[in-house]
Amino acid sequence: MAHAFQTDDPHLRSIAEKVLAGKRLESDDALALYRSGDVLAVGWLANHVRERLHGNVAYFNVTRHINPTNVCVAACRLCAFGRKKDAPGAYTMALEEAWQTAASGYSEAITEFHIVGGLHPDLPFEYFLDLIRGLKQRFPRVHLKAFTMVEIAYLAKRAKLTIRETLEKLKDAGVDSLPGGGAEIFADRVRHIICDHKIDGDQWLETARLAHQLGLKSNATMLYGHVENDEDRVDHLLKLRALQDETKGFQTYIPLAFHPANTPLQHLYTTTGLRDIKEIAIGRLVLDNFPHVKSYWQMVSPKIAQIALRFGADDIDGTVVEEKIYHDAGATTPQGMRRQELIRLIKEAGRDPIERDTLYRPVSRTETSFTVSV
Ligand code: SF4
Repeated sequence: MAHAFQTDDPHLRSIAEKVLAGKRLESDDALALYRSGDVLAVGWLANHVRERLHGNVAYFNVTRHINPTNVCVAACRLCAFGRKKDAPGAYTMALEEAWQTAASGYSEAITEFHIVGGLHPDLPFEYFLDLIRGLKQRFPRVHLKAFTMVEIAYLAKRAKLTIRETLEKLKDAGVDSLPGGGAEIFADRVRHIICDHKIDGDQWLETARLAHQLGLKSNATMLYGHVENDEDRVDHLLKLRALQDETKGFQTYIPLAFHPANTPLQHLYTTTGLRDIKEIAIGRLVLDNFPHVKSYWQMVSPKIAQIALRFGADDIDGTVVEEKIYHDAGATTPQGMRRQELIRLIKEAGRDPIERDTLYRPVSRTETSFTVSV
């Protein structure tokens, strides 16, 4: 660490003692972090934890997003991606099209497909099983990170199966792990405003619990910068931490900046850089049992993601190739980034870039093939 911890904020001193001693922060500490104006001191502490866990390493991956459909019954106010079936711009990929999409884009060998989409009222469960089976058959070495807890719960309802049965069938078909979306903010008051037709926070957590029990790792997100307050965010983080104590199934925490453009909440402001940085730092400090904290460059911009590597983040996500969900909500970032650009961002932050697979195993590669170290 280049310099000693310093702050004028008396609340941060007792927090610093806990962090330096490796002790757990409580909800009052988390609130004090949110209310502190000393972002550099908060960042110092988060960086301390990040370096204790990961040294100077920063991770990225070579991933391709596939969104099989944007047709969705939920009509969440936070969303610019979902469409009613007959609305302009609604699409659903035929299976062959989804498999072709998987093969398109950059020539670099992909190690992960990230597959999420809308809650389609008519697509049968068999479509999703076939989608996964077809991808596994065509790309047997590529990790399939597919379907949020929200999609899993909806597929279960449509197929008249339990959540556990649904997860088992998807796992048998080839799903390797789950992404972390749909968590938003767990507090009911907020969920009623931003996504009142989605499963509630307890159902999200229960679906994650079942996935972890079946050996499927997942990520966890928190959508911030809309109508939530400090207490709502602290509640969200502590619920994630409690479940992680129980299952140890979460790999990465990803705070997601809300993008209001083209949503019914477009009167709200976008998040500021300071808020984005602070959210990363607080996540790293409160979620002491999460191995990784990601600053997702698509959501906060490559510039902020790069700075976040000094404020608690150890991962900036990956190549993505074709991002649709946040670009429908006005994101101005590129839809994808080449591997060399990610490496440059990380190196200029003074970190050592490591390409990882979805399970954080180092990847060595040529452009068209890769080897995972196990
Ligand atoms: S956030 Fe997800 S569930 Fe909600 S409307 Fe958008 S696609 Fe549908």
